[in-house]
This record gives sequence, C-alpha cells and structure tokens, in this order.
Amino acid sequence: MSLNVVMLGPPGAGKGTQAARLAKTWQIPHISTGAMLREAIKNRTPLGLQVQAILDSGALVDDALMTAIVQDRLAQPDAAAGFLLDGFPRTVPQARTLDGILGGEPDKVRPTGSRSPLVVVEVFLTDGEVLRRLAARMVCAECGKNSQDDSKDADTCYDCGGQLVPRTDDKEEVVRNRLEVYHRQTAPLVEYYRERPTFCRVDGNQLVDDVTDAIVSVVRLKADTTYPPRT
Ligand code: AMP
Repeated sequence: MSLNVVMLGPPGAGKGTQAARLAKTWQIPHISTGAMLREAIKNRTPLGLQVQAILDSGALVDDALMTAIVQDRLAQPDAAAGFLLDGFPRTVPQARTLDGILGGEPDKVRPTGSRSPLVVVEVFLTDGEVLRRLAARMVCAECGKNSQDDSKDADTCYDCGGQLVPRTDDKEEVVRNRLEVYHRQTAPLVEYYRERPTFCRVDGNQLVDDVTDAIVSVVRLKADTTYPPRT
C-alpha cells in the first residue's frame, strides 16, 4: 500500500528538512511546492517570472495555478507509489482539490480509487521560535537545501559545495507577513483535517533527529492501525 503524506506547519517549522529525510527513508518523492517555484524563478521560466514578486512578498500564489502544478506532478509515475507533500495544500480550497485528485472525500473511509488515504502531519512551533529560526536560516544558492540539514560547514553546502545564502523571503518583514498569511489562510487546514483518523501532531521544537523519530513512529502507527494492509 502506498504512503501519501502531507506536512503542515508554519514557515520554519522544519517541514522541508523533515520531508527530505522522510522521503529518503520511505522511498517516495518529496514534493515541495516552494522548491518547485524557487527553481522556476532561478531558471527564469514563464512560471518563475509570474510568481517571483509573490514569493518575495510572502503572499500565496493563487490556488488554481498551484493545484494545476501539483496535479501534474502527482500524475508522474514516481508518485504512483506514494508521495510526501511539503507546502501543499496551503489553503482549504487546495485541500479540497487534493481530496478530489486522490478520489477520496474526507477519508474516514478507504477511498475507492487506487490511492491510499492521506496521512496529515502537523509540525507545530510558536511564532517566536519561527522568527528566531528564520533569522538564522541559510540555504544553498545552488541546490536550495537548508544548511542545517547535515552541514557543519558555515559557508558552503554539504551536498553540492554551493554557497550558503539567506533565503530572500526570510527577511524579518517578509517572515512576519508569511506568518500572518499562515495564520489566516493555512492554519484553518488543521481544522479541515483534524477529525480524520490519519491526522497527527508533532512538536517541532525538538532536536531535528527527535522530530524525525516522532514523525516516523506516529505515521507508522496511523498508516498501520487506521488502514491495515488488505489481506
Ligand atoms: P515554502 O518554501 O513552502 O515556504 O514556500 C515559499 C513560497 O512559495 C510561499 O511563501 C508562497 O509564496 C509560495 N507557495 C509555496 N507553496 C504554495 C502553495 N501551496 N500555495 C500558494 N503559494 C505557495
């Protein structure tokens, strides 16, 4: 049975770092909508030119465009066996569309399609901790990886040797806007998913390894006990 996971949480909660690790562990694609948009901006594609100012301001790209991008990505063969979505859905309309794509209305029952139900992981963190973390965050200018993922080197990326730089949307005034946008548009998703048997919460204010361990155990429990493999 495939594992379809959505990571929720404010900016800086560690979703990207955790998603990259977990996708490796579970051997499913890590689909980060923010990374896809930053890549498009870096390559100056029509999509990149269209969304650059939106990302720089900390606002959200419109739902129709984002759902089209994700629908297309989920149709790729590597996502058939499962996926880990990081940064999508970001609004209730996006979550509704995702349910539609997966063919299962609020998944209290096993959907009839071939997709397994979503396991939704909320990584929670206070606003104060978000502001503290993002003020210090460095990412690789080449591959986009967060420096704290594995690197002990202050200047260059552990993976590709690229230069570490602050993310342009990690400036304090933009982070404040992203947090405001999170509380207004994304936090209602917790309510949207909370009643599902596959919803779980993990404290993001722990050591990175401890957050990973917590997610692995809770997802295993949710995936196995709520929807045991068919015999
Ligand atoms: P992230 O890397 O997830 O923090 O995303 C960076 C930025 O990309 C966000 O601040 C938004 O401007 C945009 N973005 C990423 N995912 C979405 C989404 N699902 N809906 C709308 N905008 C998004």
